Amino acid sequence: MAKYDVAIIGSGPGGYVAAIRAGELGLKTVVVEKDPFLGGTCLHVGCIPTKVLLHHADVYDHFKNAAELGFEVSGLKINWANILSRKDKIVKKHAKGIEFLFKKNKVEWVQGWGRYEGPGKVSVEKDGKKAPIEASHILLVSGSEARALPGIEPDHKTILTNRSILELPEIPKTLIVVGAGAVGVEFASIYNSFGTQVTILEALPRVVPVEDEEISAELDKTFRKKNINIFTQAMVNSVKKDGKGVTVTFKDKDGKTQTLQAEKLLLAVGRKPMTDNCGLEKSKAKLERGAVHVGPYMETSEKGLYAIGDIVFGLPLLAHAAMMEGISAVTHIAGKPGPAIRKDRIPNATYCEPQIGSIGLTEKQAREAGHQVKTGKFPFVGNSKATILGNHSGFIKVVSDEKYGEVLGIHIIGPLATEILAEAAAVLHLEGTIDDMMNMMHAHPTVWEGMGDAFASVRGLQINV
Ligand SMILES: Cc1cc2nc3c(=O)[nH]c(=O)nc-3n(C[C@H](O)[C@H](O)[C@H](O)COP(=O)(O)OP(=O)(O)OC[C@H]3O[C@@H](n4cnc5c(N)ncnc54)[C@H](O)[C@@H]3O)c2cc1C
Repeated sequence: MAKYDVAIIGSGPGGYVAAIRAGELGLKTVVVEKDPFLGGTCLHVGCIPTKVLLHHADVYDHFKNAAELGFEVSGLKINWANILSRKDKIVKKHAKGIEFLFKKNKVEWVQGWGRYEGPGKVSVEKDGKKAPIEASHILLVSGSEARALPGIEPDHKTILTNRSILELPEIPKTLIVVGAGAVGVEFASIYNSFGTQVTILEALPRVVPVEDEEISAELDKTFRKKNINIFTQAMVNSVKKDGKGVTVTFKDKDGKTQTLQAEKLLLAVGRKPMTDNCGLEKSKAKLERGAVHVGPYMETSEKGLYAIGDIVFGLPLLAHAAMMEGISAVTHIAGKPGPAIRKDRIPNATYCEPQIGSIGLTEKQAREAGHQVKTGKFPFVGNSKATILGNHSGFIKVVSDEKYGEVLGIHIIGPLATEILAEAAAVLHLEGTIDDMMNMMHAHPTVWEGMGDAFASVRGLQINV
């Protein structure tokens, strides 16, 4: 039996990135993946296919607004089958890319169900047969799956999850999205662009509830302008299927029962960690609501057993968080100084239209943490590149501590928000101050230069507004 330095269960962004880095660091590495392909939720039914559809929705929006840009377009039609096929091609290409990177870095992989079998031991089960693997370090990176609501089980034809909504043979005329987190608002945005009448039902008082309150308010306003119906503080009571689709009853924020009908319903009410049947009961790892507690460098309470990605307790369920957690673990295993994971330094990108990019503390969190908060805000209406793009709604909000000008959080909604977020992440990572950033030169004309104005606005020294 081959003995490995590292065995990794799961090949999503947490698993495959950890494996490649482990290979680069000279660790003998094997990945166990239940599916016949590599890449996990993110590549196959998460980040990548949704962003393909969002890109197509964006292109379609441009065609619809062609007259504003001086073009006459006639006979514009959506070829949905071609869009789905392009999505699938992109996914396949990148799954093959991971296989190539595994070979390049001498990472082995086997297909089968991986299970922790005690210190240094993993089993791989396929077609009823079990094979053992020995490894000095084991990383469990088994990911998450869509949560359902009690009594509302997805049938994947009418009641959908993030998986089944990617395979719809036709664009529905009407869609109810339950949940206004990142997944819910992205699909709401996609189908709204393609002409579906979308209604969002959110149990909490605002859409994108993890974002700064002003960001939620701006998204709410823009979505309503785009004719997306939104009900917040809406508690779904029942979902009944019939020949036409679904009938949903819910209690609205005034306590009144309302009924809605739609062709399809998407459940986007969060994710649950996939830790069942992974052998964790044979370890000292501590679990809370199915998620695994970790210490420094992602090690669980069981020495030599690490948990990474969506199964980790208390960290956001994001691909880039999983990737850096994997890097942190294997770098530590290789005996080198690895990056520590800081929750307040994890960027959030939500790719709906308008896009949202944020990092660090919201204004409310900063006040609650006892900071002497000073904020600044720059609206994209003052940014010439945004006007050129025909997309100048939204703003950049900077949250800082008044004493030393420490940057605590940055919240962007508007054009290219998920791209210019790069500067926000760098500032927090390098612990820059308002003065460092407002005195840094930004290229003109770019949407990015709005960041310079946003930092300067904390001192009342913005130029373009
Ligand atoms: C619709 C949607 C859109 C998203 N968009 C974004 C985005 O734009 N940006 C972003 O950062 N995040 C996004 N996410 C979140 C992102 O997909 C996850 O955070 C990320 O995939 C987590 O990576 P992971 O490696 O922990 O798990 P996963 O990607 O879930 O991978 C886990 C892997 O483990 C395998 N596995 C599970 N159990 C076993 C077992 N016992 N044995 C063998 N193999 C096993 C699974 O088959 C899977 O391949 C999105 C999620 C969804 C649902």
